[in-house]
Amino acid sequence: MIKKCNECGSYTLQDSHCSSKTENARPAKFSYPDKYGKYRRKAKKGEV
Ligand SMILES: [Zn+2]
Repeated sequence: MIKKCNECGSYTLQDSHCSSKTENARPAKFSYPDKYGKYRRKAKKGEV
């Protein structure tokens, strides 16, 4: 499992990096597109 260092943002296979614990790097599944899509839809209607 690949991990990501929160300190320097680099990916590593180690449990720690930059003297801090790394987190599991999950495949990007962002909620942004949906969020912005919603916002944009509203903006189109003139509700914002
Ligand atoms: Zn690091």
